[in-house]
Amino acid sequence: MSGNSDSPWVVIKFGGTSVADLSSWEGIAGIVRRRQKEGFRVLVVCSAVAGVTSEIEKLIAASVENRHADILDSIASRHATLAKELGVSFSEVEAILSELKALATGASLVGEAGPRIRARMLSTGELMSTKLGAAYLTKSGVEARWQDARELLTSRSVASEGERRRYLSAAVDDCRDEDLARLFRDRPEEVIVTQGFIARDPEGHTVLLGRGGSDVSAALMAAKIGAARCEIWTDVPGMYTANPREVPEARLLTALCYEEAQEIASSGAKVL
Ligand code: ASP
Ligand code: MG
Repeated sequence: MSGNSDSPWVVIKFGGTSVADLSSWEGIAGIVRRRQKEGFRVLVVCSAVAGVTSEIEKLIAASVENRHADILDSIASRHATLAKELGVSFSEVEAILSELKALATGASLVGEAGPRIRARMLSTGELMSTKLGAAYLTKSGVEARWQDARELLTSRSVASEGERRRYLSAAVDDCRDEDLARLFRDRPEEVIVTQGFIARDPEGHTVLLGRGGSDVSAALMAAKIGAARCEIWTDVPGMYTANPREVPEARLLTALCYEEAQEIASSGAKVL
């Protein structure tokens, strides 16, 4: 069974390592199909390919000193490799890469990169991962529609706010938005594939929700369309007794109850 326009929504978010290669995208296609069979309409929210946002941060710093060519090549070849692996055309991301290059050139000419241009440059990571992913899903027989997240989330503009906050860690309210749900009403069989991390401000400029903001995007979109469920998928084996990056003897938990999970989460675990 595939969704009809009254089907409940599920929002499913995949992080950087979960969108980085063919086997990840095969997994995504499988999860999407399963949810559709369960009768859900599916909205997929993706991060940039693992490491790409940080690479763009480096690109920005290098642009200002006009030594950005190599990093730009490396970002391009990363996506070319992924496109090849997924069996989709690299042309899906060429326009976005050209824009990234133009912005880097702009920053190098003026010798600075302010929050507004930084937000534009950093947004390209998510735009590219979703372009390749949506093309792959379509190729695999999952009807997918690429959606620009900037048409879904508009930030609140606070007059007293500084530029950094306004463009790089913007706030978006989580009120139910009937127009959004309506936007997707006509093609209930389609899976919507969109970006985490990015939004627009009331004037239409690209803004970001802060590093790691894709989870927030997924939660906001779920609230706005009144989704029945929001799933945050991450590429780790499970929850540990402590952060395994800091405590090498941390053990993987085979079972845990809600209260234990909450205790671990409130002591700072990012996985939940
Ligand atoms: N790609 C962005 C970051 O690395 C957002 C995210 O992945 O949540 O911060
Ligand atoms: Mg994250």
